[in-house]
Amino acid sequence: MSVIYQRVALIGLGLIAGSMAHAMRRGGLAGEIVGTARSAETRKVAAGINLVDRVTETAAEAVKDADLIVLAVPVGAMGGVATEIAPHLKPGATVTDVGSVKRAVIDAVQPHIPGGVHFIPGHPLAGTEHSGPTSGFAELFDNRWCLIVPVEGTEKAATDRLVDLWKGMGSNVDVMDADHHDLVLAVTSHTPHLIAYTMVGVADDLRRVTDSEVIKYSAAGFRDFTRIAASDPTMWRDVFLTNKEATLEILGRFTEELFALQRAIRTGNGELLHDYFTHTRAIRRGIIEAGQDTDAPDFGRGGQHT
Ligand code: NAP
Repeated sequence: MSVIYQRVALIGLGLIAGSMAHAMRRGGLAGEIVGTARSAETRKVAAGINLVDRVTETAAEAVKDADLIVLAVPVGAMGGVATEIAPHLKPGATVTDVGSVKRAVIDAVQPHIPGGVHFIPGHPLAGTEHSGPTSGFAELFDNRWCLIVPVEGTEKAATDRLVDLWKGMGSNVDVMDADHHDLVLAVTSHTPHLIAYTMVGVADDLRRVTDSEVIKYSAAGFRDFTRIAASDPTMWRDVFLTNKEATLEILGRFTEELFALQRAIRTGNGELLHDYFTHTRAIRRGIIEAGQDTDAPDFGRGGQHT
């Protein structure tokens, strides 16, 4: 593949930026990759493992002469970073982000983007519960979706170029409106994370009663919750604070369904439970058929748990 952007600046050097650096190198998509992070420790680790070609002390230095700038910091930090880099952006450059919420990022970043610079928000639907400069890997985006959320008036050529980059990093790409993005993600990612956090919290309360049996006999259902609930606290705090409306809407619906199932259990309505679980099983099949997960038992772990 050929170089798509001569110089790429990564602001933030965690899981997503690190994976982008690996994937861009794998595809030969960037002439030079420059990176920076808030803490000296992260910059030192990133430089030590050659995560990028050059590590700078500040974001202002990193964006100098960059053709693509990627904001890969928690959603709540995007506005502050945009303020810092704005005076140093090259005319004709593209600023994008990878934040998990889109409306709030647009509101925080767009006002700072100078004329002549493209701002094209994005969100790769790929991640793990790990974070930091050593957590990234080149395959993270392979066959995963990346949603591009162009703001009004964005030049098509600039969007196409960013789309090419994501495809070069292994992603499938769709274009979506910001509010729709935030609602879809509230259903597919944000509310499930909140439920996982809650379930692990409940089990932890119980653990005090059962003296660590919860951990010892931890079966797949609970283990999967704990994996999700191990995700970065800052990132997820920001997701809920900035995708408030959509998350509350989906949580409201979730609570209603939960009450309906609770009632079915109380009244012994096996038919309702069976129908419900038959329907949800079909949804799982759809995800596997779409190539978005493995159908190996226990996600291919080979464990004995159910
Ligand atoms: P991460 O591994 O925790 O890395 C975050 C980076 O942002 C670090 O380099 C950190 O610097 C920097 N940072 C944190 N707070 C900052 C602040 N207040 N000002 C400036 N820099 C700050 O996070 P990540 O998983 O790559 O997530 C980055 C973005 O991608 C987030 O917006 C998240 O919503 C989005 N995203 C995440 C996932 C996922 O599953 N993880 C998936 C898709 C999108 P230090 O190391 O120096 O603290």
